[in-house]
Amino acid sequence: MIPRLPRRIARGWVRQAAPPLLVIAACATVGHVLEGAVAERERGLERTGVLEKLATVRARLEGALVGNLLLIQGLTGPLALEPDMDRVRFEALSRELLAQPNQLRNVAAARDLVITHMYPLEGNEAALGLDYRRVPTQREAALRARDTRGLVVAGPVDLVQGGRGLIGRAPVFLTPAGGAPGAGPFWGLVSAVIDLEALLAHAGVLDRESGLTVALRGVDGTGPAGDVFHGDPALFTSGAVTLDVALPGGSWQIAALPSAGWTVSPAAVWPVRGVTVLVAIVLAHLVWLGGRQRQERARARRYLDRSRRRMADAIESLGDGFALWDGERRLLLSNRRFGRMLAGPQGAPPPGTDHAQILRTALDTGCVVPEGDREHWLERFMRPDDTTGAPLELNLAGGRIAQLTRRPTSEGGTVEIYTDITQMRRAEAAIRRRANVDPLTGLSNRARFLEQLESTVRLARRSGRQAALLFVDLDRFKNVNDSLGHGTGDRLLEEAARRIVGCVRSTDTVARLGGDEFTVLLHDAGEGLGPAKVAEKITRRLSRRFDLDGHEVYAGASIGITVCPEDGDDPGTLLKNADMAMYRAKEAGRNTYRFFTPEMTVHAQRFVALEGDLRRAFSQGEQLALAYQPIVDLESGAVEGVEALLRWTHPQLGPVSPAEFIPVAEESGLIVQLGAWVLERACQEVMAAVPRGTVPPRLSINVSSRQLRAGFGAGQVCPVLERTGLPPSRLVVEITESTLLDDDARVRESLQELRALGVGLAVDDFGTGYSSLGYLRRLPVSEIKIDRSFVRDMETDAADARLVESILAMARALELTAVAEGVETAGQLDALTRLGCPLAQGFHLGRPQPIGELWPRVGAPARAVVKGVA
Ligand code: C2E
Ligand code: CA
Ligand code: CA
Repeated sequence: MIPRLPRRIARGWVRQAAPPLLVIAACATVGHVLEGAVAERERGLERTGVLEKLATVRARLEGALVGNLLLIQGLTGPLALEPDMDRVRFEALSRELLAQPNQLRNVAAARDLVITHMYPLEGNEAALGLDYRRVPTQREAALRARDTRGLVVAGPVDLVQGGRGLIGRAPVFLTPAGGAPGAGPFWGLVSAVIDLEALLAHAGVLDRESGLTVALRGVDGTGPAGDVFHGDPALFTSGAVTLDVALPGGSWQIAALPSAGWTVSPAAVWPVRGVTVLVAIVLAHLVWLGGRQRQERARARRYLDRSRRRMADAIESLGDGFALWDGERRLLLSNRRFGRMLAGPQGAPPPGTDHAQILRTALDTGCVVPEGDREHWLERFMRPDDTTGAPLELNLAGGRIAQLTRRPTSEGGTVEIYTDITQMRRAEAAIRRRANVDPLTGLSNRARFLEQLESTVRLARRSGRQAALLFVDLDRFKNVNDSLGHGTGDRLLEEAARRIVGCVRSTDTVARLGGDEFTVLLHDAGEGLGPAKVAEKITRRLSRRFDLDGHEVYAGASIGITVCPEDGDDPGTLLKNADMAMYRAKEAGRNTYRFFTPEMTVHAQRFVALEGDLRRAFSQGEQLALAYQPIVDLESGAVEGVEALLRWTHPQLGPVSPAEFIPVAEESGLIVQLGAWVLERACQEVMAAVPRGTVPPRLSINVSSRQLRAGFGAGQVCPVLERTGLPPSRLVVEITESTLLDDDARVRESLQELRALGVGLAVDDFGTGYSSLGYLRRLPVSEIKIDRSFVRDMETDAADARLVESILAMARALELTAVAEGVETAGQLDALTRLGCPLAQGFHLGRPQPIGELWPRVGAPARAVVKGVA
């Protein structure tokens, strides 16, 4: 059984074998035609040869026949003269005649058609007296010879003596004396029997040497119509060469074939056949080779195509625009995103296109908007060695921005990556706006205020003029907020802001530092009302009734005043002094103001006192503990992680807020040991709480820059992870933006080390610090924690909601995990869930609490975990 080839192989074989086979077939056809032509020519030549030989045979036959007939006729003359010639005379004449070469068997003379003379008589006696008129076979020829007065050849006939003979007859007409020969009456006939076999042998018809097979037809001279009397009758129907043989009074037809038949000599065809076969082989081989090469090429092309497709897929799947250029700055390869960025809907320019041309077209079509002068821009962008330094940025159509990174290739070309940083820039812009303005009141915010304060201090120092800083704190804001809700609290803040602004000149600055804290900066305190009068005015106005959402509210304010340069000539000191003075005003019974006095620095004494207490607390250990706040996966509702927060219970003061003691710890350097303790303790407690074999929650710990500068890195974290068994991927280190931007090489190194370990790196209070987010791309950040100030107002403030949305979009674009902080209401949770925020944390989801209280809820399903999480 022949195994059936797999179809594909069979098809491949057929595809490969078909062309050479076709060539062979074509060659065979051509060869066949050529051979036929050659054979035909050869046959023509052979025929001519046969014809030539046959013509010779015919000539000899005719000659022999005529020779015999002339002998017969030779007897008619004497008989015409001697009608009564006796037998002896006849015999003598005949003997004389027959002495010449001939094929005559006998000669007879028949007077009045009856045989009267015979030579040789011996053996032929029976013929004497035979009357031709009475022999049916002889009568007709005899009479024809008389009537035509010419020679007549009849037969061949079978002879009584054996063999076959032709009978030649010649009429004898008497020649009258003195008259023309034969002019007299008919005397009779002279006839002779010509031995046919002898005649044919004499003529060479029977000669085998001739190489011919011969046949004759035309008995009695009847030509082609007559019967065949010699040879194979088939000859006449098989394309033999024929000639007519002339006889007196008729004809025969002689036919001849080469004795071996028509054989075109193979030698004649061989060269043709040989050449044909050779050509066929060569052509078929060439075609086969060509086919194979084509197939090889096709296979190579397919392979190349496949790898090219794979590479193209990989390049396509890049989130960025990609372009590869050769050394002459011609496009080799690009992806669709690149095409969309630089060529719009027309798509990527074809490979081979010049870089300058692509850029010019991009400018012409408006896909790229040049920054400043067009030619200058082009020059800057086409500089191929511009692979270092500040990243290039392109303004694309629709306000999008792409950042361009260039790297040289080993072949002297360039790889370009175009990253869409639009989201990042939008978030930056929004944060920058927010960085200057308090969204609720429209006043300057803390950051902007600090800048203004700084420039005011500088101005005051230079000009010698006095500036005053008023620190305004609403007295009953917290009550309003707690009893009437955030919305009413916000209305109160807005209205309070309006009233404060109404108390100062337009050149003065009012800011909201956060919460219910406002500041007023009087750039020239010597002018106008003076700080005391302004403070009075403000307290009076703020103590008036507020009508908020149908509620009558009374707030009041306490104001601390500090004067520059008397009380200090740096913004930090001034702010601290004003704050201190404000506390004194509050202590004095609220709704009043106080000027800063040096005695007020007792407040600072608390700071110093706390430092000592904290050291003691740390060495004793009992006063410090960790609380864990759950971080919830908004999709599943499960607790995904916990943030460890330090708690200090002072023996006399009770719980002290980290906001108060952490700065003390940082300033004193105690934070380094404290931080190490937090790390170890948190890992221990979490691992101890997790049942064996289950994945622990992600543990976030806060690390200050002071710690990082002191060497908090892999060297410190690794042993703790090993000791406690917490996987590195389950640890997240939270640092502030300012820490990230720390120029200290040590800090950067530590951050890189930790990331390399697999430890997460989160930017805490994201959005409150710096407005440039470039560091998110440069530094190994894995997570951002959206500051709770953004989350707080997102329900009521569309701008804040948009800002959170754009931060989330940016985080997605940069593949960063986003955690929303400070979620206090179900509404905020809903809004965040709608925006696709992955993780969140806040009092609404869970307060910071001891691990033991939190634990049964970690990893449990959403509804059981946190009220309000869908
Ligand atoms: P943080 O890292 O931003 O921590 C979150 C703070 O927000 C915590 O305050 C937490 O109690 C509070 N919080 C959580 N949910 C809500 C909410 O829904 N609404 C509001 N209003 N607040 C919420 P906490 O515990 O007072 O800590 C204050 C800061 O002290 C922390 O801010 C962190 O920067 C620092 N801190 C705390 N523990 C440590 C520590 O172990 N090491 C260092 N270096 N800093 C720490
Ligand atoms: Ca934190
Ligand atoms: Ca935070």
